[in-house]
Amino acid sequence: MTKPIAPENAIGRLSRMDAINNKSVLEAGLRQAKEKLDRLKYVFSRVDAEDFGICKKCNNPIPVGRILLMPQSIYCVKCAQ
Ligand SMILES: [Zn+2]
Repeated sequence: MTKPIAPENAIGRLSRMDAINNKSVLEAGLRQAKEKLDRLKYVFSRVDAEDFGICKKCNNPIPVGRILLMPQSIYCVKCAQ
């Protein structure tokens, strides 16, 4: 659904506007999902590293609950804000 919208007469002008709107919403979602996937891949590649679970900013341990809820985050709650 993120492919270019063809100006088909069949769906009409308003429907086309809707389709374009939906497309940008979906594209934003897709972009966010890709970013999350990239971060997850990065974190996953570092699971065995000595500093895994350590906040990249303040060097304090990230609580296990946060790692379980947001495994893609490399910052503790405080530094992520
Ligand atoms: Zn931190």
